[in-house]
Amino acid sequence: MVTKMSELPFGTPPAFEQRVFCDAPGEAHWFVFRGSELLVELGPPDPRPSDDLRVPSRPSWARLPLQKSHNWLGCEPARTLYLGRLSGVDCWAAEVAAAFPAPAGMSWQGLRTLFSVLDDAQFALAGRAVQLVDWDRTHQFCGRCGAPTVAKREERVRQCPACKLSAYPRVAPAVMALVKREKQLLLARSPHFPPGMYSALAGFVEPGESLEQCLAREVAEEVGVQVSGMRYFASQSWPFPHSLMIAFVCEWSGGEIRPQAGEIEAANWFEVLQLPKLPSKISIARRLIDAVVKELTGS
Ligand SMILES: [Zn+2]
Repeated sequence: MVTKMSELPFGTPPAFEQRVFCDAPGEAHWFVFRGSELLVELGPPDPRPSDDLRVPSRPSWARLPLQKSHNWLGCEPARTLYLGRLSGVDCWAAEVAAAFPAPAGMSWQGLRTLFSVLDDAQFALAGRAVQLVDWDRTHQFCGRCGAPTVAKREERVRQCPACKLSAYPRVAPAVMALVKREKQLLLARSPHFPPGMYSALAGFVEPGESLEQCLAREVAEEVGVQVSGMRYFASQSWPFPHSLMIAFVCEWSGGEIRPQAGEIEAANWFEVLQLPKLPSKISIARRLIDAVVKELTGS
């Protein structure tokens, strides 16, 4: 099974060159965040239905500000980070205070709303930017001695001048497992999913565990079944807030479904031609389910 990585949101855009320091700031794309919301100019609502149960409707288009500095914002951002260059144009991330109002003609939007609305490369960089802003915000002080940290010019790291502890941007690996049994898929829902939506199982990797061990443990814990024949599918950076999703397909090998109390609200075997509501195409979960359905139905 092969997936074109360019089709998965949040990867590195082909025309992007990552850099940490900017010598001569010029006109730039500005990724300004207020918490996890991005500042954009929006078109009118798109009449086409949204594919995301968490997003009631989407705008027809969205644009990022193109500016020479942050002065147009009318405030001093809490932080600014240089991201690099997209097709030769500088890209900056910035964060403003929680109550900061959007400048005239602009609005604050969650990334899910902007999927398939903002330019794909800019959308991918927005996912990168929100993670870096979050990391910068939460690593202002040394985790070992408490001294204020300093950003280095050469690489993406905040270092403690007192004890030299380095804090790199964090990524939390998580395994996703789509379990199949003949022409059925095991899908589950967690209590925080939108009503009626089911997805593949997923869980964070623990210290001391391989991806394969994590998969077997998560599936056993969440639904009480055993699996075999794991096959790697693909991976996706997932900026909610800083995960790397690593997706696998596997075969049921034993056990009956027993949903884990508190974690799994419902779990069932679904015929591939009678699937429930699924996650948006923004996520690797949907790409994984679609690919396996295609494989099983030959369509
Ligand atoms: Zn320190």
